Amino acid sequence: MEIVLASRNKKKIGEMNTLLSKFCGDSVKVLSLDDIGFSGDIEEDGNTFEENSAIKACAPAKMGYIGIADDSGLCVDALGGAPGVFSARYSGEDATDAKNNEKLLCELENVNDRKAQFRTVISMVIPKSLGLKVFHPLTNPEIEEYILERFGIDAHVCSCEGECCGEILREMRGEGGFGYDPLFYVPEKGKTFSELSPEEKNEISHRGQAMRCFGDSLNILIEDNK
Ligand code: IMP
Repeated sequence: MEIVLASRNKKKIGEMNTLLSKFCGDSVKVLSLDDIGFSGDIEEDGNTFEENSAIKACAPAKMGYIGIADDSGLCVDALGGAPGVFSARYSGEDATDAKNNEKLLCELENVNDRKAQFRTVISMVIPKSLGLKVFHPLTNPEIEEYILERFGIDAHVCSCEGECCGEILREMRGEGGFGYDPLFYVPEKGKTFSELSPEEKNEISHRGQAMRCFGDSLNILIEDNK
């Protein structure tokens, strides 16, 4: 089975191949947008992680492939879920990790409720024209309707989620990771994401959980279509 990751990032594609060979053996091959000759840009203008990941996964699905894509971000309770889908560009067009963290600290300066969650959604968009049997517990009818109305794509959509709960510190701690990692403190570990090794982070992170959920989802699809 071939699936297309809606990304041009070689590192992401390599990681996905490694994960899937662990979960599904060699029955799945991950291709990139370049591999299928897609050269356009994809505008991520959805309002939720579910919508944004599905919008991206629709690029290969439009060309008849099984498309997958992820979308992640940080949701802070006291900010009504912000920065959410705007996590990458929270501090504006010329956003950097440093500027985003600085803005987050400013917004929370006089706030005592520091609870926050990192969330990832991986969407798998399976065009109905492929004729695959999809009896999946994670199919998402709302998103199926959304992509049918918006792009005219008649497809099954499975949404695999991961969430990691924590607190936003008042100052940065640790050297590793990226993005909001130095401010995101995980009470059970007594450390920020930046202070965890990549393996420790992957075990508990939103992205790690969503990837494992996606591996399970793909296995269900493969089993159902043997
Ligand atoms: P993406 O959808 O994975 O590209 O994530 C969007 C943005 O969310 C990133 O640019 C980061 O600002 C933030 N983000 C997502 N995941 C993480 C994480 O694991 N650590 C820190 N920041 C993250």
